[in-house]
Amino acid sequence: MSDLPPSEPLVPVPADAAANTHCTAADYDRLYAESIADPDAFWAEQAKRLDWVRAPTKIANWSFDPVSIKWYEDGVLNLCHNALDRHVAAGHGERTAIIFEPDAPDGETRHISYAALLADTIRMANTLKKLGVKKGDRVTIYMPMVPEGAVAMLACARIGAIHSVIFGGFSPEAIHGRIEDCASDWVICADEGLRGGKTIPLKANVDKALEKVAVKGVLVIAHTGGDVAMKEGRDHWYDALSADVGADCPCEPMNAEDPLFILYTSGSTGKPKGVLHTVGGYSVWTATTFWYGFDYRPGEIFWCTADIGWVTGHSYVVYGPLQNGATTLMFEGIPNFPDHDRFWRVVDKHRVNILYTAPTAIRALMREGDDYVTHHDLSSIRLLGTVGEPINPEAWRWYHDIVGKGRVPVIDTWWQTETGGIMMTTLPGAHAMQPGSAGRPFFGVRPQLVDAEGGVLVDEQTGGAAEGNLCITHSWPGQARTVYGDHDRFVQTYFSTYMGKYFTGDGCRRDEGGYWRITGRVDDVINVSGHRMGTAEVESALVLHEMVAEAAVVGYPHDIKGQGIYAYVTVNAGVDPNDDLLAELRQQVRTEIGPIATPDHIHFTTALPKTRSGKIMRRILRKIAENDFGSLGDTSTLADPSLVDGLIEGRKNR
Ligand code: ATP
Ligand code: MG
Repeated sequence: MSDLPPSEPLVPVPADAAANTHCTAADYDRLYAESIADPDAFWAEQAKRLDWVRAPTKIANWSFDPVSIKWYEDGVLNLCHNALDRHVAAGHGERTAIIFEPDAPDGETRHISYAALLADTIRMANTLKKLGVKKGDRVTIYMPMVPEGAVAMLACARIGAIHSVIFGGFSPEAIHGRIEDCASDWVICADEGLRGGKTIPLKANVDKALEKVAVKGVLVIAHTGGDVAMKEGRDHWYDALSADVGADCPCEPMNAEDPLFILYTSGSTGKPKGVLHTVGGYSVWTATTFWYGFDYRPGEIFWCTADIGWVTGHSYVVYGPLQNGATTLMFEGIPNFPDHDRFWRVVDKHRVNILYTAPTAIRALMREGDDYVTHHDLSSIRLLGTVGEPINPEAWRWYHDIVGKGRVPVIDTWWQTETGGIMMTTLPGAHAMQPGSAGRPFFGVRPQLVDAEGGVLVDEQTGGAAEGNLCITHSWPGQARTVYGDHDRFVQTYFSTYMGKYFTGDGCRRDEGGYWRITGRVDDVINVSGHRMGTAEVESALVLHEMVAEAAVVGYPHDIKGQGIYAYVTVNAGVDPNDDLLAELRQQVRTEIGPIATPDHIHFTTALPKTRSGKIMRRILRKIAENDFGSLGDTSTLADPSLVDGLIEGRKNR
């Protein structure tokens, strides 16, 4: 397929990573081959990372047509036991489980040992039982990024309640919708949260949500000590209610296919879906991907900056690290408070070894210049990771060169709420890196690219290069089992576009070297005069300009070309977005990709509309570019809905 653009050059595996790894290149090749040849044997072996009340004898049992997915179906286990109890029982009770870094830089840092976290979790679990929460009940958790958020999740897992964590930045309407959707009778929240020095009225938001939907009880954790209203008979202060509970609470023996949690996807593409994960497969998947993906070495400090309200927070702030006995850092704040060096201050202060963050944060910090980074001692860093969106090669190189000083691996991990954990990445000690490419499939993952009609273009078995729509042809343990209460929607959304395959919704390219690169969501592909282009590529060409901070590219109807290219661009601090810059940007895209990709419009804006998890919402940008302002759809998951009016004004004035 000679018409594919050339791949970025490979960046070799750093010597230290290659010398001290759980998985060399040869190990990867062997293990990947085994995981494909005999998945049952491979995943039975990986399941031994965990304690089981009853070890599974049936491993995989799935079908994508009709859709039914089961793993370890006769196994019995408890995720909380694997995250806490077994480490304490093995004599590691004094090891730090969670380091807490508060929003205020001079606030109180906490180090919580495994033994203390277990005691806290038991107290919470017994309090939930005292309230009347039972196995299978849905518990809504609406918490700031504080250890008690993790404790709430672990306590639910311990007693077999199904948690549904809602990001602490969501509105009362979002809470109302999610509580109603899964008929959740219980809510755990804090009085208030803190973000960037501002208080977030969590309890007040819950109260507003509960004007429209009733629950049996609300458990309120005092965090800021702010004044909140308490409704008699419904609301309970955690401290008071937990004062007399016992110090014992056995872990509920859970069938591997019992539900563990519901998580609503971030909503980049439409109405959020309540994705359901079950205990056994998710436990094995997060434990295994954490160990290999981050090449975790015992004693290291791991910092994933995601909020527990996103799947990344579930899998790599809480469950993946704790099941591996790791030390996980929870940060309550934001990257630019009190200043743009907060991340680097935290890395330096806690001697963080592994940092896992999102391209949106990297681009935002890069925009402010290198000095914020270089003023701090980042020598503790051993590995850098990203997740959430395609990372522009320019941002990748900044992360690698300036943050990592060119001496540590950078992994770009592609996965989704629906996949439970990492699906494609380079492994730090095994694989050379390719800026902008996620890399290789994880063990047991069978990616395939298909064309619009479903014709197979390429997979790991055929080898070769192609670009198409990314499907996964075989189930893996961490796969979501259903959309809660709406299995039809699950089947429709993921398994009906290409019958018998899981369709990810993402476009992707595989090169001859076996590197898989996400080109953006398939819905976002632009077709200019018959040439299909991924948004990520045009955006990367724009971001390459030294004055540009971020870019979002969408298609809009064009009389001659079918679709034209409309680019929204934000510039670096202090830059004047004038006509010269406009001409340079057009030229830059021509040089980088070709004349066909030249934007028809470049719309400078101060900010881009993003979801609360920091992803660009191209769906809305597309509508605005199309001059279709009346049907913007659901904007409730936007971080700053007010931005939309300014963008519409800008569009009208063109
Ligand atoms: P919704 O499904 O509600 O529209 P969402 O897709 O943003 O929301 P997530 O499950 O959080 O919800 O995100 C998964 C998506 O994020 C992937 O399908 C992909 O588009 C993008 N993504 C995640 N990681 C990467 C990565 N490393 N490289 C490229 N894209 C990524
Ligand atoms: Mg999605």
